[in-house]
Order: sequence, then structure tokens, then C-alpha cells
Amino acid sequence: MNSDQQVCANVQEKLSAYLDDELTQQEQQRIYLHVQACPQCRALADDLTAMRSNLKSAVLCSVDERDLPKILHDQPARRFAFIGWALLIAAVLLIGGIVSWQFIREVLNDTGIGRWLGIGVIAFYVGLFLLFLSVLRQRLIARKTDKYKKVQL
Ligand SMILES: [Zn+2]
Repeated sequence: MNSDQQVCANVQEKLSAYLDDELTQQEQQRIYLHVQACPQCRALADDLTAMRSNLKSAVLCSVDERDLPKILHDQPARRFAFIGWALLIAAVLLIGGIVSWQFIREVLNDTGIGRWLGIGVIAFYVGLFLLFLSVLRQRLIARKTDKYKKVQL
């Protein structure tokens, strides 16, 4: 082994640490200069860099794409979500019902202009609620018939 090969062996040994920026500034500089000047070591450094970026994208892919159906179809998570939505809707209906009932009773007990204003407000909210229900229904039907839903990524 001549001295050039010795230098190359030395550099190649530290290439991984060099690419991770783990060496001292002086060593980083020394290896940087050698890699710029030596085609053999530069090829190795390029290979290492390419391998690392492939590895990184493979790891990202496994999280982002390959495990996505598993995450989306995770049964406990779906069950929790379902219970959460059910509780939320029940609470909204209960609170909304109580408030509405109180309001309707007050309107019915009132006489004069306040009564008609109240009835107008009730009509407004009932209309809004019915519109909301129709949109919700359309969304649910659209979801059920979505042909892409069952496609595995
Ligand atoms: Zn070299």
C-alpha cells in the first residue's frame, strides 16, 4: 500500500462520519478537499449519499404510504372516533334541544311583536338545521358510494 492508497483508506474510513458532519471542522475540511481531488473517493462519497437518500425515502414511504391503509383502518382508532362523534352529536342534540325548548316556551308565552319575532327566529333555525341535515345526508351517501374508498394504496 503506497501513501496515496493509505490516504484514501483513511478518508474512506471516515466518509460516513464526514457525511453526517460528525468530524471536527479541520477533518471535515481535509476530507472535503481530498474528495474534491480524488475521483475514487468522490465516487464512493456519491454512492454513500445516494444510498442514504434512498434509505431515507424508503423509511418515509413506509410511514406515509405503505402503513397508511393500516393506520386508517386501525380498528380501535376507528371505534374511538365513532364513540367520540356519537357523544358529540348526542351532546349537541341534547343541549340544542333544551335551549330550543326553553326558547319556544318563552316565545309561546309571549304576546305581541316579540312572539312573531321569536317564531321567525325559530323558523330560521329550523330551516338552517334542515339544510344541514340534507347536506349531511348527501355527504354520507357520497361517502358510501365512493368507489375509491376500498382501493388499497
Ligand atoms: Zn481518495
